[in-house]
Amino acid sequence: MATRRCAAVVVGAGPAGVAVMGNLLERQLGTIAWIDPSFEAGRVHCKYREVPSNTKVALFQAFANATQPFQKVIDSTKSPNAFTKLAKLDQESTCTLGYAADMVRGLTDGLLKMEQVYACHGLVKSANLNETTSNWTISIKQNSSEDLELIEATRLILCTGSFPTTAPIPVAGLNIQRLDLDLVLKPSELAETLPSDRPISVAIVGASHSAILAILNLTQLAQTSHPLLRISWFTRHPLRYAEYKDGWILRDNTGLKGLAANFARSELEDDKLATSPAGQVLAKIDCAGGPEIEAAQYQKYLPACDYLVQAVGYSRTSLPDLTKDGAPLLMSFDHDTGTFHEPGRASDIPGLFGAGIAFPERVVDPHGHEEYAVGFWKFMKFLKRVVPSWVA
Ligand SMILES: Cc1cc2nc3c(=O)[nH]c(=O)nc-3n(C[C@H](O)[C@H](O)[C@H](O)COP(=O)(O)OP(=O)(O)OC[C@H]3O[C@@H](n4cnc5c(N)ncnc54)[C@H](O)[C@@H]3O)c2cc1C
Repeated sequence: MATRRCAAVVVGAGPAGVAVMGNLLERQLGTIAWIDPSFEAGRVHCKYREVPSNTKVALFQAFANATQPFQKVIDSTKSPNAFTKLAKLDQESTCTLGYAADMVRGLTDGLLKMEQVYACHGLVKSANLNETTSNWTISIKQNSSEDLELIEATRLILCTGSFPTTAPIPVAGLNIQRLDLDLVLKPSELAETLPSDRPISVAIVGASHSAILAILNLTQLAQTSHPLLRISWFTRHPLRYAEYKDGWILRDNTGLKGLAANFARSELEDDKLATSPAGQVLAKIDCAGGPEIEAAQYQKYLPACDYLVQAVGYSRTSLPDLTKDGAPLLMSFDHDTGTFHEPGRASDIPGLFGAGIAFPERVVDPHGHEEYAVGFWKFMKFLKRVVPSWVA
């Protein structure tokens, strides 16, 4: 098969991939190849539609209007549509992520129709950099064929996403069923998965935004269709909230916000648990005080649980095999510029970039705290800043 030549290859069609496409198309570089197995907004559509957002509707709206190609899509989409639905919501409130997912799917559908977009439904398997020419050759396994499609480009942008991290079960030899965090974040599927006709106990580990949403869903189940469900909450540290300061947000990316913050404040704090509705179906297992205390707490309480949910962060989806002149390419990501470099080398790897939850921007707040900026609008702001240097 002949090798196709494009100006750039964008891997992934989640919110980050869509944002990259908008920014690249705006610059009219030529044909942009876009690869994803389904082009359905990534995990936010397939996993998180029922999750309440922690950001205002206005920021999803700002994302939708952020580039000229997006504007073109919105103008040419028949109303009513995902954009008009989003525009009708209270812009200062939050919403379920389904609205945001539909907005991204609407943008995707429109971008896929553009002449400058070459879309490929499949997975990027590998990419090789020719160091002499600075050209990437990208191999794609299409959904519909066993053959590999080859594309050559000078820019390769990875927007490949992340998934919930799983850690080893903290008690050796324990026969406990794992519950995927994504499933617990989807109440409609959770209700179908857990039995309601016998006592069950679910252990949940963590105190992050996702952990608190998972506890909220489990609690609501125990208070309605699953009255025999009980929750053991293993947590190391106090609940941490985002704090709204003058023009900036302390713990903007790591603190609890929105519904999760309200629930945690009113029902999960130590002085609320004894009397709160959540406290009637949940026991907090305090794991603070170091690894030995934590291990003892798991040893004591985990064996009585039937299911284990771990909300302990997100890990990058495995990347395509990346090589330079056929040899494995070792690389580290620069969270300030979206570029990569090889360990021990100061110069960037030519034409290789990353964005999205797998490759977020590093931000430092006025108190000097470092965080990674994850969210639709944050991806967009980062790209607006760095894409001009990617295409210079
Ligand atoms: C519980 C939760 C709540 C959140 N709430 C909010 C919120 O309120 N507001 C907000 O702004 N953000 C929120 N986010 C954060 C964020 O917006 C999402 O995590 C975001 O959807 C990540 O987008 P992404 O494009 O980086 O990755 P993904 O959505 O994971 O997309 C990656 C895409 O790349 C594809 N892909 C991967 N590997 C390959 C390959 N080799 N070849 C081709 N395609 C590939 C995948 O199939 C997928 O389609 C939330 C996240 C979570 C987990």
